[in-house]
Amino acid sequence: MVKNTLFTDEEKLKEAIIRLRKKRKAVILAHNYQIFQIQEVADFVGDSLELAKISAKVDAPLIVFCGVYFMGETAKILSPQKKVLIPVAGARCPLADTITPKKLLELKNTYSEAWVVSYVNTSAEIKALTDVCCTSSNAIQVVKNIPAKRVIFVPDGNLGWWVKKNVPQKEIILWKGFCYVHQNFTLEDLQKQKSKFPHAQVFVHPECKPEILQNADLILSTSGMLREAKKSSAKEIIIGTEEGLIYRLKKENPDKKFCPLKRAECVDMKKITLKELYLALKHQRYAIELPPEIIQRAQSSLKEMIKYI
Ligand code: SF4
Repeated sequence: MVKNTLFTDEEKLKEAIIRLRKKRKAVILAHNYQIFQIQEVADFVGDSLELAKISAKVDAPLIVFCGVYFMGETAKILSPQKKVLIPVAGARCPLADTITPKKLLELKNTYSEAWVVSYVNTSAEIKALTDVCCTSSNAIQVVKNIPAKRVIFVPDGNLGWWVKKNVPQKEIILWKGFCYVHQNFTLEDLQKQKSKFPHAQVFVHPECKPEILQNADLILSTSGMLREAKKSSAKEIIIGTEEGLIYRLKKENPDKKFCPLKRAECVDMKKITLKELYLALKHQRYAIELPPEIIQRAQSSLKEMIKYI
């Protein structure tokens, strides 16, 4: 009989991870877009801000954040006394990397009276130069409620377009960054899936292009999709976001069918494998280090968000 070495290797790795997690008193956090094997060994699975808040609350000296770099940084900003590891230091978010401190400072100089509102998909340095942070689910509310008539919104241009449409009373200067995973969905893809599943409800992430947003039933963050999928009476739901979320949607709603808008994989999110997670725990690598003044200023822009929602 041929031995299934892949399966046994995976099981062995999982056991080793669980053993090391206990030994190191660590908590493993996994973003909704991680591969399912990582989601299965994680203590918590969620979106970036949910997980960063959990990292601040849990009583553990070591956090292993399975996600992209800015997510690990956000966890470190909210719990600076803890050691935060990211299993693959090169797992980055190309959207977050579109805006640099130099470019943001230039915008701030041009529009000196404007407030900077940054989506959480930004580096710690950008958060430190920000007035208020926002998430994809509260961006409209934040921009509406802040006492500024002019707003610089970074880094996602599609989310910014959606905010602008919903807050027409304010002048919003958009940074035209985008997430290539969501940008890749086309109207043609959506129409194709709609004709294949004519009774399906359509959930899309606000990082999708305007023509996708305008043709969806609901525009939702990943946690919003998980919440609404449970409530929905539809038996079929078309999902316009990174495909990693489908695993959790199916697990939590076994009676429903989830149809991806099209194959959509974030290469950086998939860089973290069980082996990388195991090595991170074993060697306690790669720790996120941030200067105290960056932590302090970035923390303030994250805390400001609570005031305006
Ligand atoms: S899915 Fe898009 S926004 Fe999320 S980490 Fe990947 S590139 Fe960044």
